[in-house]
Amino acid sequence: MTDFLNTTTIQQVLLVGATHPNEWTGLALIRKFERQPELVRRSTFTTHTLIANPQGIPMVQRYVDRDLNRCFDRHDLANSALTGYENSRAKEIAAIFGSTGTTPVDVIIDFHSSTGNTGATIIPTSNSIENLHLAACIQSQNPTAHIYMGLHSGADSPMLRALAPLGCAIEMGPVPQGVLNAQLFHRAEQLAMAALDYLEQYNLGEVKIPEKITLFQAIDTIDYPRNPEGEITAMIHPDRQGQDYQPMAPGDPLFMDLDGKTIVYSGEQVVYPMFINEAAYYEKGIAMVITEKQEIVIKK
Ligand SMILES: [Zn+2]
Repeated sequence: MTDFLNTTTIQQVLLVGATHPNEWTGLALIRKFERQPELVRRSTFTTHTLIANPQGIPMVQRYVDRDLNRCFDRHDLANSALTGYENSRAKEIAAIFGSTGTTPVDVIIDFHSSTGNTGATIIPTSNSIENLHLAACIQSQNPTAHIYMGLHSGADSPMLRALAPLGCAIEMGPVPQGVLNAQLFHRAEQLAMAALDYLEQYNLGEVKIPEKITLFQAIDTIDYPRNPEGEITAMIHPDRQGQDYQPMAPGDPLFMDLDGKTIVYSGEQVVYPMFINEAAYYEKGIAMVITEKQEIVIKK
């Protein structure tokens, strides 16, 4: 995978929305591109579009049976006992766009939205230098965007975008599930254009890679305080709400309990929380993801 881009040109690009069908920014964007394919057409590669989880859309739910974006583990794709809607859908998608599929794609850009104050966040598919170059070049056209590396990345990730060696997720927030926000929609479209333009320039040998990037590397997650029954007993502290990517030092307010008492962050180092109060993560036991801020030199 490392020398993927040294040996090939990019031929097939896939833009995805509604992997989480209650995240309507990506859904609306892909529907727009399907109506106006000239917007995503470039001279050196073919662009495909995919609405990944159509059955979940009218239900305005994250999934029908299970999270589609956790169904692309290679063992799960090969497991015939997994027959739920999303597992079946993942197999269908992999059979078309996966490396042994009918139309293997080189790049996947997957559009998501968050109820957290993520702004525009670029999440590279892996930490390969090619993926960091892609993220850096998208960011250079959208300087307020952040680059975030999740806890799951690379070919072993169970996420849809791991079907291709190159790509990223684009996360836009804050916006409620099943809601459209024009400003975030248009920013997502700008990031899509920046990604496609970078890929075109790559094929034409015209890329200009920024020297370094700031990467927010996920290192852990924090759950809400809970009672022995597992019920949540405190909420995100008002001073922390919406403060994605802002530093949090030991002793800083973290949660507020139902009586208004502050619970402070008891970690040992300054961290940069992300996905703070993400609605979809309550069931995953995640109140926020904590990241480390890293400066990485990426220029060859
Ligand atoms: Zn999502």
